[in-house]
Amino acid sequence: MVSLTDGYCQTTLADIKLNFNTKNTYDTNMPELPEVEVCRLGISPHIIKQTVSQVIVRNARLRWPIPDEVKTLVGQQVLAVDRRAKYLLIRFTTGTLLLHLGMSGTIRVIEQATAVAKHDHFDLVLTSGKTLRLNDPRRFGAVLWLEQNEDELGLLTKLGPEPLSDDFTDGYLFNKAKNRKVPIKTFLMNNHVVVGVGNIYANEALFQAGILPTAKAGDISEQRLNALTDIIKTVLSAAIKQGGTTLKDFTQADGRPGYFAQSLLVYGRAGQACITCKETLLEIRQSNRSSVYCPNCQQA
Ligand SMILES: [Zn+2]
Repeated sequence: MVSLTDGYCQTTLADIKLNFNTKNTYDTNMPELPEVEVCRLGISPHIIKQTVSQVIVRNARLRWPIPDEVKTLVGQQVLAVDRRAKYLLIRFTTGTLLLHLGMSGTIRVIEQATAVAKHDHFDLVLTSGKTLRLNDPRRFGAVLWLEQNEDELGLLTKLGPEPLSDDFTDGYLFNKAKNRKVPIKTFLMNNHVVVGVGNIYANEALFQAGILPTAKAGDISEQRLNALTDIIKTVLSAAIKQGGTTLKDFTQADGRPGYFAQSLLVYGRAGQACITCKETLLEIRQSNRSSVYCPNCQQA
């Protein structure tokens, strides 16, 4: 659920309940890189250059405990909001507030007086009267404090390049994949290879590149991996442009995401006809995630 104008960044609670209480294992509600980037764009104008007046921790027990140091932000001004992989990095003079949405986290910029809801664990209250509020029912998200150049958990230091940066370019995947026998889809979803290629976008990119998700990474030609690199950039850019797949405004009455989901070519379409050749799309599990592919258009 994201609305740029309101500074909303959240997946819908109704969707999450729908997903985890049914046998439908499609994880279209977990924030992926495009959703986090849209979130960054959405909250930035509301919080940059604003001063923190209060820090409220209602429940510190997220993926890691929220550290007491976050209280030192009172009186400090937000300098910038950056993103690395799926981490939001809110910059202050003394360090960085790191936020992660986990499986079900949502961030909103709301009026301070807005009633506190269940699972509203963390507030960053600003002197403007606005509040950055984190809601996270499953509590896999994170609120951490990083002093200057400090990354004790190593969350940011071991990550591969950003997929939309110039570091992710021709030859990169080919060199990384050399002698690797791991399936290409698993390889793409490894944050040490490249960050932010989540399950949905890995499925879509491999379909568009005509590569079977089970193909061994090290067996694929440099030419095909370079084409895949371009397609990953295109797919992620398109998702960011459309506001992420979990936009509230485009959520249908049955809780499924809206128009971007309809433009997904294979993800969530197992058993349906391939849009290119009409062959029935197949679904397998890889690393416990759904892989959907066309046995005709995609090759090892
Ligand atoms: Zn096909």
